[in-house]
Amino acid sequence: MNRFKNFFRNMTDEEWERFAVYVLQIVGYIPTILPAYGTDGGKDFLVVKDNCQYLVSCKHYINSGKHVGQDDEQNIGDRLLQHNVKGFIGFYSTGITTGLQNRLNGICRNSQYEYEIFEPHKIVIIMQLMDTKILQSFGLYPGKYYMNVSEEDYQPLQCVCCGKDILEDENIPNSIAGLAKFEDEKYGFIYGCKPCLRNVELYLNAFLEIEQALHVKWMQGWDQMIDTWIEEDHLELRSDFYKMRYKFAKGVRQRQLPQTDGTWYGL
Ligand SMILES: [Zn+2]
Repeated sequence: MNRFKNFFRNMTDEEWERFAVYVLQIVGYIPTILPAYGTDGGKDFLVVKDNCQYLVSCKHYINSGKHVGQDDEQNIGDRLLQHNVKGFIGFYSTGITTGLQNRLNGICRNSQYEYEIFEPHKIVIIMQLMDTKILQSFGLYPGKYYMNVSEEDYQPLQCVCCGKDILEDENIPNSIAGLAKFEDEKYGFIYGCKPCLRNVELYLNAFLEIEQALHVKWMQGWDQMIDTWIEEDHLELRSDFYKMRYKFAKGVRQRQLPQTDGTWYGL
């Protein structure tokens, strides 16, 4: 949790509100009125889900550690009326007090309003479904890509053509892996820079971006797909096929992201 605490801590109030828009979209809330930033800081904004409109209130108290209480969320009922909406969302970087919880329960029971609170624990779970690039843009890690091993343990993964390390930060977005047909009509597992592999005939023209491979789920999907091709399409494999595939998987693992750090959408 500590990494995420720091991640949240480093966001300004304004960033916290922009972050809220992304997080809520992942779970189906579409923004209708975006947060407006005035001299007095952020304002409430509106989202819609299943034909129900919600007023979103963001509070970013993580640096003081203070829970969000009734004094911080005044006149919720009036605010819902004013915006003519049926739901309330609290997007908070700390927990809420029982006082506020009871108050929200009361409002919703009596007036058929709905509410949902997004606190850090819930937000971290949703982050698994977010685009890693977006999380990076909010400062999830200072380096561009994640590194699981120490510098001295790190083993480069060399492009099969030019020998460049395709796992270096600047080469990752520009490298791929795939199944290539060799002169003997057998398939080999290859990886390398996009320009180096431009003229290589890849099976079904399919390839895995190294950026995708850094996400455990994508890598699993890719491995499954390859196994299916080999089995169902009866591919003839070169003798070093599995050695190369293993080498690739082992190399990539050094830079694979924790699953909490989002997924790949190729945006
Ligand atoms: Zn190369």
